[in-house]
Amino acid sequence: MDEKFSCDCCGACCKNIRRSTFYTEELDRGDGVCKHLTAENLCEIYSERPIYCNVDAYYEKFLSQKISRKRYYEMNYQACERLKKLNSD
Ligand code: SF4
Ligand code: SF4
Repeated sequence: MDEKFSCDCCGACCKNIRRSTFYTEELDRGDGVCKHLTAENLCEIYSERPIYCNVDAYYEKFLSQKISRKRYYEMNYQACERLKKLNSD
């Protein structure tokens, strides 16, 4: 696989886990922010993060036979933009 999802590590998804049905309650530190997110917006369990936190692995496992990678990335980038906007409001 050559192409990779481009994440700028803004942390917006990890700070809004209650907005997605993917994330489990046990990740929530109590305010909708993932308990594994560091102050530098890094994931402290990155190599073992849940598959729904791993855009590329999720695609390979669940969606590669259903939608194109291009379309999937577009949807993800749009979601990222919405989340970033929330965080800047
Ligand atoms: S919102 Fe998007 S760009 Fe920001 S950390 Fe999450 S996946 Fe990466
Ligand atoms: S496990 Fe890591 S990647 Fe997933 S929401 Fe938490 S900090 Fe973000």
